[in-house]
Amino acid sequence: MYKGIAGSEGIGIGKVVIIEEHEVVIDDRTISDTEAEINRVREGIEKFVADTTAMADKMEATVGAKDADILRGHIMLLQDPTIEEQIVDLINNEKVNAEKALDQVLEQTAELFSQIPDELLQQRATDLRDIKGRILKILLGIEEQDISDVPEGTVLVARDLTPSMTAGIIPEKIAGVLTEVGGRTSHSAILARAMEIPAVLSIEAICSQVKNGDTVVLNGTTGEAIVNPDEETIAVYEKMLEDYRKERELLKQYTGKPTVSKDGTKVELVCNIGKPEDAKKAVECDGEGIGLFRTEFLFMDRDAIPTEEEQFEAYKSVAETMAEKPVIIRTLDIGGDKEIPYLGLEKEENPFLGFRAIRFCLQRRDIYETQLRALVRASAFGRIKVMIPLVTGVDELRQVKAIVADIMKEYDAAGVEYNKKLQIGVMMETPAACLMADVLAKEADFFSIGTNDLTGYTMAVDRGNAKVAYLYSAYNPAVLRAIKRIIECGKQEGIMVGMCGEAAADPKLIPLLLAFGLDEFSVSATSVLRTRKNISENDSAQCRELADKVMQCTTEEEVLNILTK
Ligand code: PEP
Ligand code: MG
Repeated sequence: MYKGIAGSEGIGIGKVVIIEEHEVVIDDRTISDTEAEINRVREGIEKFVADTTAMADKMEATVGAKDADILRGHIMLLQDPTIEEQIVDLINNEKVNAEKALDQVLEQTAELFSQIPDELLQQRATDLRDIKGRILKILLGIEEQDISDVPEGTVLVARDLTPSMTAGIIPEKIAGVLTEVGGRTSHSAILARAMEIPAVLSIEAICSQVKNGDTVVLNGTTGEAIVNPDEETIAVYEKMLEDYRKERELLKQYTGKPTVSKDGTKVELVCNIGKPEDAKKAVECDGEGIGLFRTEFLFMDRDAIPTEEEQFEAYKSVAETMAEKPVIIRTLDIGGDKEIPYLGLEKEENPFLGFRAIRFCLQRRDIYETQLRALVRASAFGRIKVMIPLVTGVDELRQVKAIVADIMKEYDAAGVEYNKKLQIGVMMETPAACLMADVLAKEADFFSIGTNDLTGYTMAVDRGNAKVAYLYSAYNPAVLRAIKRIIECGKQEGIMVGMCGEAAADPKLIPLLLAFGLDEFSVSATSVLRTRKNISENDSAQCRELADKVMQCTTEEEVLNILTK
């Protein structure tokens, strides 16, 4: 039996498909046979056109003509004769290889498009970078695995589950996921939960322990997986799968009910999402809104920054899907464990303490303003609120408010509609923000506690480092004090305080959070009904009694002793 981290709940039984990862590395060498390189480029382009046509035909049959047309547009873009001419000239004149020539010409063309202040032309830049990546893979002989093509009942085994992989996943076909890296709050876990696929993460060298076609059973709730189990074990897992489905069936009775404690205290129960499409899932699972839309996923699944128009459409679609319900959209939170290769960020010694989230955005105003412009415009279409990640002081909040105020002024002059009362809130996930919570609460419209990072930064522990993982615990009295303080400071100023970190769905912590007065719980869509049930089983007076005891504890062990009784 393999033991890993329980990344996404549920029982999976299926056959292994290993997903290989390949990096595109361009060899920078001088060549002598220019004709051969030119032929390689031509053949590469031909194969791209043939593959893309086949993909578009398939897409038209399954997804629809609109998406297929985007791919056909890619072929037309590439058939512009000047592109091939430039590549041929470059190879002849500078004796560079096919990959280098293609990379340079397409990048230059994309750059030209991206500088023209026209949304459609900027989209062409994104398309060109997409095309570039795919032809380079053809030239380098890198086979792209089509995840959408795997058979039903597949258990995907990969080093990591990246956002670009998940784009191709058809959840109904995937019985489970096993990875070599990632913790409960890693993005692999978050993505797997969003798709309701059971996942066990961080199993050392699992890719080399299994073969394609092996049978695997896995338990995403306990973090266990067995390769090629005997008949008896398979029968046990089949029974577990049946029980799990029954429990989900039982939870359905909480659908459409308000989220209230046993004594009738009402709280809000909203969802965390990563992609605009996840909003539908949030509605299906009866979420009362969106408490965290991680917008970095819009930036990840591609080769270039999404344009203002693309972002606007994404934010607007979530707002419209959620209709009258609140939608908290977090501005770009990159850095740390969330990389965006095309931004070309330098490698840092301590990425979690480095140039990330709001720090990056305030220095890359071009990128940030584009996002804020899209958000302000989209605010006309629903109950959007904006949230700033990794805040450490009130100056960051003021700077964001100033940028938003300028955008609004410009929109006023141009007659562009937006919500004049657009709320701007702070994600409370650093010890600095916690210590300054009284000050921040006076200027922020709301707080949302990001316990994933707050735990890491409070305990000074890297969430992915197994050696110190024992310290990464929201039950630690230090983290509980931080949470309590943030809620108290928010309440003092009368602003809403929510929680969008994983702790919000933890049944052991729910009584404490209710006692502290948390207003909003933001959880993955699949946890909505169970969280509603947990909340309904708690009585406010008893929660307060429990919290009094817990807050006197001096160690995590003491806390857990009380909470697990
Ligand atoms: C958090 O830090 O708790 C959080 C919700 O944000 P993320 O996991 O995206 O860093
Ligand atoms: Mg965070």
